[in-house]
Parts: sequence; C-alpha cells; structure tokens
Amino acid sequence: MRTKGYLLRQGLTLFAATLVTLFLIALVWVFWLEAHVFRFMNWGTPPDLDNASRWRFILTCTAFAAIAMVIPGLLSLRLTWRLRHRYRQLLAARARSNHLAQQDALTGLMNRPWFMARLHARLDPQLEQTALLVIDINAFQAINDAYGNTAGDYALRRIAGRLNSVRAVGDPLLGRPGGDEFVVALTGALSPRDLLDQAQALLRQVQQPLVCGSGRVTLEATIGIAIAPLHATSADRLLAAAYGAMHDARNRGERILIQESCLSQAQQEDAGRAQRLRQALDHGEIVPFYQPVVSLSNRETVGVEILARWQHPERGLVPPDEFIPLIESLGLMPEMTRCLLDTAMRDSRQWPGACFLAVNITASYLEDESFTAQMAALLEAHAFPAERLEVEITENVLIERLDVVQQNLSRLHEMGVHVSLDDFGTGYSGLYHLARLDIDKLKIDRSFFDAEEIRQDNLVRLMIAMGRSLGMAVVAEGIEEERLAARLAQQGCHFGQGYLFGRPMPASALHDSLVSSTSAPLAASNLPG
Ligand code: C2E
Ligand code: CA
Ligand code: CA
Repeated sequence: MRTKGYLLRQGLTLFAATLVTLFLIALVWVFWLEAHVFRFMNWGTPPDLDNASRWRFILTCTAFAAIAMVIPGLLSLRLTWRLRHRYRQLLAARARSNHLAQQDALTGLMNRPWFMARLHARLDPQLEQTALLVIDINAFQAINDAYGNTAGDYALRRIAGRLNSVRAVGDPLLGRPGGDEFVVALTGALSPRDLLDQAQALLRQVQQPLVCGSGRVTLEATIGIAIAPLHATSADRLLAAAYGAMHDARNRGERILIQESCLSQAQQEDAGRAQRLRQALDHGEIVPFYQPVVSLSNRETVGVEILARWQHPERGLVPPDEFIPLIESLGLMPEMTRCLLDTAMRDSRQWPGACFLAVNITASYLEDESFTAQMAALLEAHAFPAERLEVEITENVLIERLDVVQQNLSRLHEMGVHVSLDDFGTGYSGLYHLARLDIDKLKIDRSFFDAEEIRQDNLVRLMIAMGRSLGMAVVAEGIEEERLAARLAQQGCHFGQGYLFGRPMPASALHDSLVSSTSAPLAASNLPG
C-alpha cells in the first residue's frame, strides 16, 4: 500500500508536467504555429503582436491552467485517500473473516476443516512421510461436571497453549477438531522412536497440573499415531487411522500407540520398551543400590558405588545390563545419572561417617559440555562436599573426543571431585592416557581374579605397582574370597569391593550395615600420599 507522501509527490509531478506542457504549447503557438494555421486555413494574417504581448499571453494561459487544476487536483487527492482507506479496511476485514473461518474460536488453533485442508496439502505430493497424532484428554467431562463449563473452556485453552509451546520437530501443524481432542501433524523422516519422543513431550504438557475453577487438577491423555503413506494416503483415512490407534491404546490401558500395521513386531516391542523405560524414570522406578568399597588394611567402609536397579512393579528388581543400553540409546543417561545422584546424596545424609559416593559415567555423558556444570549444580543443591564424590569412567571414554574429556576431567579436579578408571586392564587406555589425564584411582577389573594363574597374579602386581607409582589409589573389584583379599592387601592394593564385603544393597540396608560397623568410615579423599 502506497503512503500519503507518495500520492502527494505523484500529484505534484502530474501538476508540474501539465503546466510545462501547456506552457510549451502556448510558446509554440504564438511564435510559430499560429501563422502556419492561419495560412493553411485561409484566415488571413494573424494579429500582429509584439514579443511582450506574446509572452503575456503564454504566461496568462499557463497561470489560468494552473488555477483551473488546483480544485480538481485537491478533490481527486481526497478521493484517492478515501479509496485507499476503504481498501485497507476491506483487506483487514477479509483477513479477519479468513482467520475466523480457519480458527477454532475457543483455543485459536486451526479448526477441523482448515486443519484437514492443510493436512491434505501436505499429503498431496506424497514425497515425505507425515505422522498424525490424535490427542484425546481422558475423562474431560468430569472437569465440566465438577467445575462448570467455563472452567472446562479455560482448561482447554491452557492445554492448547501448552501444546503450542512444545518445540516439535517436523514442521508441526496443530489443530483442535472439537471437544477435548487435539491433532498434530508432523512431516519428515521421523522414526517410531522420534514419534514416541514427540508424543511423550506433548503428553507431559497435558499432565502438568492445572488450576481449574476452585480446584487443581492433573489431566491424562491418550495419543494415537498413524503415518502416511504407510498407513493411509488421504487426510480423512489418516485421521481415521490415528483415531483407531487412539481407541486401541485406550482399550489396552496404554498412553501412546502407533498404528500397529505400520511397524514390525520388533519395532513395536522396541517402542513399547522405550516408552515403559521412560515412564519408569518419570515415576522414580530406577533407584540407586549401593555396594561398599572397603579399605583392605582395616576393612572399614570408605565409600559406596552407586549401581542402578529398576524396581519393576511386575518383574521385580531388574539388573542394569537389561536396561542401561536402552537408556543410553534413548539419550536418557544424563537424566538417569542425575536422578540417581540426587537420591544418593539425599540418602547419604542418614549415614554415619563421610563415605564417598562413586557414580558410573558413560562416555557420551562425559563428552557433554554441560556435564561438569550439572555435577556442580547437584553438589550445590545438596551442599554435598565435592571431595566425597567420585566419578567412575571406563577406558572407552578415552577413545574419542579426548580433548573434551580431558577438559571435563580437569574441571572436575578443580572442583575437588575424584576420578577413577573403572574396569582397568580390559580396555584401550595406555600409559599415555594414565600420565596425561587427571585420574586418582584405578579399579582393577574382576576378570583378573578369576583364576589363580601366576601370570594373572603378576599382572595384578604390575597394575598395583603402576598405580601406586603414579600416585593413584588402587581398588580391586569383585573380591569374593578372604584369601584373595588378604593377598591383595599384602601386594599393596589399597581398597577392595566385592561380595565378600557386601553385595549392592538398598539405602536402608547400607544404613544398617554402616551403623552396625563399629569403627568410623574414612573419607574418599584418603588417597595414598
Ligand atoms: P561396574 O561399574 O563394573 O559395576 C560392578 C559390577 O560388578 C556390578 O554389577 C556389581 O554388582 C558387580 N559385582 C560387584 N562385586 C562382585 C563380586 O564380588 N562378584 C561378582 N560376580 N560381581 C560383582 P551390576 O550392578 O550388575 O552392574 C553392571 C554394570 O552396569 C556396571 O559395571 C556398570 O558398568 C553398569 N552400571 C550399573 N549402574 C550404572 C549406572 O548408574 N550408570 C552407568 N552408566 N552404568 C551403570
Ligand atoms: Ca563401576
Ligand atoms: Ca567395574
């Protein structure tokens, strides 16, 4: 739309051009054209004017023309302005009415017809996969019944706002087809796992507590997912398939379900396990067990290693090798480690003495730039002394991104946190790594104590001597027999861990064992001098 200034400039240019044209016509007329026209028309001779009269004629003509143009010019300018204003009003009204026709009046999200039209346009080229998620709020009628329809409307608006705030991948389209249902379309190469992640993120938003009327409610939802073109190729059929998945999920008591025919049995099982594991983390089913680490010289407990266990409501206690790999592949390792440490730091307040907490850290987490900041935040939140925290890393963290690992280990050291090299002797670390990295402790892997071979024994002696000469503490893992413990103590190994001293146990059992042991535990910082 042109501005007022532009219109004024155009008007003045037209005005000036007209005057110049008139001036030139008058000039040509009186000095040249008039004589020719008179002669050609046989009108005799034109009036014999002197030059001053001719110029007066030219200027008078031009001036009259200028005066004659002022009023029509102003009128047309006003008319143009008015037209422009009306045109603008018309455009705004059209935009408003388009918006109203496409929008759900309550939530401001796309309404059903407009959502379906957009979905149809996405499916049309069939170039990319589009997943449709139908989110149905469970038992929403109860809110209307308990708090009234106004509160129910408010709840739907809040949920819509929260769903809108989820930063979903796949260029999301969000709509409300009606009632207590929402729909989200995601386009792109999204794996079933990506889709479950997205669905979980949306679900978490719905599950946030809501202030509703005079009460506070926590809602649940069921999400059905269907994928085009795998399951349907038209928008209508895709919506029907997603509704079908949602109803199936509800019948089976699940929260999220992808249309089964889209997935292989293995994929569906994998997706189900991932979903279950995520829930387990959310519900605090992954808990820390503690295994004592003792001083081999006097058998006092100096610290504990945190070992994750899944307290499965049906299967009972699940060992870590059954769920740690999936946790790692889902990228949930940082979250799980933080949860375990959080609980462990809280549990440790009840224990006598000041034993250290050793936590297993995977390569991926140690390579995370924010790793040390997260550890610092945990220490600060619990006012837990950094010297009582020990991170156990395995040798495979030393293979890749050594620079970041080195940086993070140095930072941990500056904070006062100790670092121990777990499963020592089974991986790739060389003397190069041991000399360069800030490592305080070596944990000799239990595989070295399997047989009573002379060769093995010599290797153990060598490792103990090497650790000691580098100023590191040495721990032997997996000690099950007294004989081995005595021999290792004699060989100069500082600490021991194994079933002989205690199996991994829950917090309460560790508490009892610490209380019943007569002597006071030592601190982790009691590294050999
Ligand atoms: P790890 O870090 O080497 O932990 C020591 C493992 O040896 C534990 O198995 C422990 O129960 C077992 N163990 C201890 N003493 C004895 C013994 O005397 N005899 C025998 N046969 N075994 C003994 P667990 O708890 O099943 O853990 C297995 C592995 O799972 C751990 O090996 C660790 O790599 C991983 N893991 C456990 N919890 C976590 C965790 O919170 N985070 C990470 N990243 N990994 C964990
Ligand atoms: Ca360990
Ligand atoms: Ca180990």
